[in-house]
Amino acid sequence: MRVEQIRAKSIVRKEKGSRDIHLNPYQGCFHDCAYCDGKAESYNMHEDFGTRILAKTNSPNLLEKYLRGLGFAPVNRPRTGTLADYSPDAKVGLKKAMPAKFLINISGGVCDVYQPAEAEVGLSRKVMQVVYDYDFPVFLLTKNKLVLKDLDLLVKINRSQGATVAFTVTLADERLQKIFEPNASTTSERFDALKALHEAGIHTGIWALPLLPWIGDTDGNVEGIMKGAKGAGVEWIICDGLTLKPGRQKDAFLRVIGQHFPELLPKYQRMYSNEDRYGAPDVGAARALGLDNPWSKGKRFAGKHGIEYKSWHGG
Ligand code: SF4
Repeated sequence: MRVEQIRAKSIVRKEKGSRDIHLNPYQGCFHDCAYCDGKAESYNMHEDFGTRILAKTNSPNLLEKYLRGLGFAPVNRPRTGTLADYSPDAKVGLKKAMPAKFLINISGGVCDVYQPAEAEVGLSRKVMQVVYDYDFPVFLLTKNKLVLKDLDLLVKINRSQGATVAFTVTLADERLQKIFEPNASTTSERFDALKALHEAGIHTGIWALPLLPWIGDTDGNVEGIMKGAKGAGVEWIICDGLTLKPGRQKDAFLRVIGQHFPELLPKYQRMYSNEDRYGAPDVGAARALGLDNPWSKGKRFAGKHGIEYKSWHGG
């Protein structure tokens, strides 16, 4: 892994129709998951996405500038003498009524914010410090137990505005998980981290996606994820299938399938032969191949274990 420090021109991205914002201090991801859609050409990432990580060192400053521009002040930042010491315009900011808060999602984009580069440069912590200073709620999604290094900060944010940490968990069997997510924390490490977060009062959830056809969407795997989620005190779970965008992402994934599951390769090729630009599988082929609907199955198993099921499919 090589980490390159760069300065970004902008970092904050807004969701259409929402005041919530997304940002990510990294481009590239050393976790190098076989199914990662960050590799798709449509994201305009660099080609050595899995080994060369760009760290946007001015991310905390850009977030601060954005919040300051909206009229917010760093109300939680320690005073160092006078108000002017810690914030030149804080006096003005504090006198004015603050605008309404919104959620800051520091997982915006397609790169894990607690990937190993974070241990080297600590940018996600610095961004989260700004979130705390400005007293906002936070959401983040990761596959790495490294997030626990910032538990102190998450607890402070949670006490004031709310903090939610979600982990992606796709494969209960760690032998399989290592094939598809070679450099991320193991599945059991993720459940342990979720448990530690839950015990510290942080809201937690699981993204069980993608549930890989014939590998991760089996009853045994979904049951294994639900059991782990229950044991870790996870509040909610969301499940979905695999999308494979034509080009780099699909080619890289099918290479791994060909290497480790050659018997499944023709089925995958048929499922994704429609070359959908968003990577959606051919529904007719999925039915013909006898595949279960991943979100219906997720809902059924979550209900069995009494875990709240979230769905963007309305089911
Ligand atoms: S953790 Fe996410 S961003 Fe990183 S390689 Fe895996 S799928 Fe891609």
